[in-house]
Amino acid sequence: MPSPSLSEIAGVLAASRRILMFTHVSPDGDAIGSLLGLGWLLREQGKDVTMVDADPVPPELLFLPGVERIANQPPEGPWDVIVALDASDIPRLGSPFQPARLNGAPLITIDHHVTNLRFGAYNWVDPSAAATAQIIVHLADAWGIPITKPAAICLLAGLVTDTRGFRTSNVTIDVLATAMRLMESGADLAEISERTLNYKPLAAIRLWGPALEQLQVRGPVIWTHVTRAMREQVQAPDGSDSGLVSFLLEAPEASIAAVFTEKPNGRVEVSLRARPGLNIADVALALGGGGHPQAAGCSVDGPLAEAEVRIIPLLLAVLEPEGRS
Ligand code: AMP
Ligand code: MN
Ligand code: MN
Repeated sequence: MPSPSLSEIAGVLAASRRILMFTHVSPDGDAIGSLLGLGWLLREQGKDVTMVDADPVPPELLFLPGVERIANQPPEGPWDVIVALDASDIPRLGSPFQPARLNGAPLITIDHHVTNLRFGAYNWVDPSAAATAQIIVHLADAWGIPITKPAAICLLAGLVTDTRGFRTSNVTIDVLATAMRLMESGADLAEISERTLNYKPLAAIRLWGPALEQLQVRGPVIWTHVTRAMREQVQAPDGSDSGLVSFLLEAPEASIAAVFTEKPNGRVEVSLRARPGLNIADVALALGGGGHPQAAGCSVDGPLAEAEVRIIPLLLAVLEPEGRS
């Protein structure tokens, strides 16, 4: 189906009453900020909104208004429309997303991942957006509805976290103008930045010790791994730490960074970062994951050592494209 316009998507939402919304597993600030932000906008239009995420909200996002309304399983329907946010494919929505239980309600996907598989009936995918939260602001404008303070706080949290404080290469004048609008609506940029970006549990800081001891460098690729044993040693809960992979890429010698994390089920989560001008989204997509040119990820079969041996050459090949043909 051809891409709908944002006004058409606004029209579908305006004509719906019971709306069920999902975001991605292991939620980040954009996942939760977009879910809550759109949730506020829809409720303010008189909609009956249910927000679902399978995994717990990370502690640094628990201050966001409305967070206590997020359920980890959807209640019984029926629903008029389903919305999937910040997720590039169906597995990314986790086990609560059961198409068979949605009574044929149409699915709207709203996302900014270049690797989005356009799995909905209506897909609005804008890879030029720095965050899904930015698209929600565009949606409110297309609909002609105001952005209230609670919505603005949640949406600015999405923008701040996905751009790591407006530092990523996709930060344009439009991104900053959107942030200004959200501040004008009452969101406090300094407070949101402090609470989301300047936050790391002590156990997560301790985990960097053993993780950095395992650091490896091959050419311009820098990587390390986090085993279950390392986590147990410092009593760190399961979860990803996108701060570590971004930290590795601060080395001027590095162009691509990776962190391989062993999950309790034996699978391996791979977090990838690349310098501007490179593209690791295609590697992540080919491995069943997705993401953006400079920040992508995937979940692959273990064991850890085999995943590293398989994936590091794929990253080296990104840097030497002529060697691939
Ligand atoms: P992370 O390294 O976890 O911060 O993720 C970086 C980017 O890759 C984010 O935009 C994620 O949405 C995306 N990503 C990470 N893991 C996956 C996955 N298993 N499937 C699809 N996209 C992923
Ligand atoms: Mn996200
Ligand atoms: Mn995002």
